[in-house]
Amino acid sequence: MSQLPEYELFAIKYATREGKREEHFIGGDPHDAPMAMDYFIWIAKSPERTIVIDTGFKADVAKKRKREFLRCPIEALKLIGVDGATVTDVVLSHLHYDHVGNFDKFPVAEFHLQETELFYAVGRHMRYHRLARSFEVEDVIGVVRLNYGRRVKFYQKEAELAPGITLHPTGGHTPGMQFVRVHTRRGWVVVASDAAHYYENMDDERPHTSAFNLGEMLEAYDALRAAAPSRDHIVPGHDPLVMTLYPAPSSELKGVVIRLDVAPNATA
Ligand SMILES: [Zn+2]
Repeated sequence: MSQLPEYELFAIKYATREGKREEHFIGGDPHDAPMAMDYFIWIAKSPERTIVIDTGFKADVAKKRKREFLRCPIEALKLIGVDGATVTDVVLSHLHYDHVGNFDKFPVAEFHLQETELFYAVGRHMRYHRLARSFEVEDVIGVVRLNYGRRVKFYQKEAELAPGITLHPTGGHTPGMQFVRVHTRRGWVVVASDAAHYYENMDDERPHTSAFNLGEMLEAYDALRAAAPSRDHIVPGHDPLVMTLYPAPSSELKGVVIRLDVAPNATA
């Protein structure tokens, strides 16, 4: 076995919305059935360090976008003994509104981002509503300000953030999308974020409708599989199924927090 640290890995569910199956697959879906979308942040924790992956959105954005806001994800960090005020490392998988909204609640953190993603968020494609609508311009400006404050670390390729934490650019969903691999007691677990919204997008190679580049999105599913010891080591970014597959750390946290460093139930 390697000398790599073994992180505890958590997901916190902070919002949800109803939806239909046809919304979540390019080309639609023959079944007229509901398919909800859950919203998460993820936390990798070892005795030495804590890394937060994505920061969610705030109540005002939830209201504007008609999402059901369940709790502030950063306040909810306290449920697993983490204080946003002291977190030193935050990975941003990409800059869509549901992944970067609370950046200001991490006053001392360094943010880890693929450089391509910021270029995209301030670049020529933002004149198109279809692509721009998934961003909150104030968030993008906020990240630009953080960069001027020397608080963004940019990556141009695959990288190790720390022993046991690796970053993997994929493109597809957005040009600067990255997923995160976390070394845990069950081996490497891949936090896909929006490299795979749902298990079904990946399993059936039917990409999600929120796509920048279809070919790269399909390749991202391959990249996830290549980075994980098994399919059960991949955690999709918005699938309500993960809340039923993985256990809560305690009975009080049921429905709010799950542990991803233990194996899921077999039935997926
Ligand atoms: Zn998302």
